[in-house]
Amino acid sequence: MGDATSIPTSDKALDMLLEGNKRFTTTTPSHPHQDAERRVALGNGQAPFAAVLACADSRVPPEVLFDSGLGDLFVVRVAGNIINDQLLGSLEYAAAHLHTPLIMVMGHTKCGAIGAVASGAELAGHIASLAPAIQPAVDKVKGQAGDLTDNAAKEVARMTADGLRTSQPILADLVKAGKLKVVPAFYDLESGVIELL
Ligand SMILES: [Zn+2]
Repeated sequence: MGDATSIPTSDKALDMLLEGNKRFTTTTPSHPHQDAERRVALGNGQAPFAAVLACADSRVPPEVLFDSGLGDLFVVRVAGNIINDQLLGSLEYAAAHLHTPLIMVMGHTKCGAIGAVASGAELAGHIASLAPAIQPAVDKVKGQAGDLTDNAAKEVARMTADGLRTSQPILADLVKAGKLKVVPAFYDLESGVIELL
């Protein structure tokens, strides 16, 4: 893990995420950067090595499953890990102002939000506002072998990552300049393992 101010390359940042996930699933998590020393060091600013767009689901907290701590990850969460203007603005802030070199869009197995849209269920209240971003992914994977919800969740992650990679202004320019990578990934709730898509 880097210190509070150094910025790794995009590829190194991805390695750091995957190494953290490996510690989480296969060895003993080291729970880095969760002490008073780190808190104090971060009082002068932050330089998170990766941003993660993840679902709000209580079973998928990025800081835990990447075995990370304070100041390591810039985390944006919303049911179904979709994107809207506020979330996009948050990620633009991380990439442009904090110089975070990597954005991971992380879907997961058994996603309730995506499952609800895939089932065609009537969504009450503002839950319905999640559907328009999820429906195109459901439509795209319909008829494919395997679990519809999981297939759709992978597709949401891919579509969202594509959308971020080409997002104007800011993100697309950073990608073009080689300063930012956007990667879709999929997390298995039971094994705890992250798969790059
Ligand atoms: Zn979910």
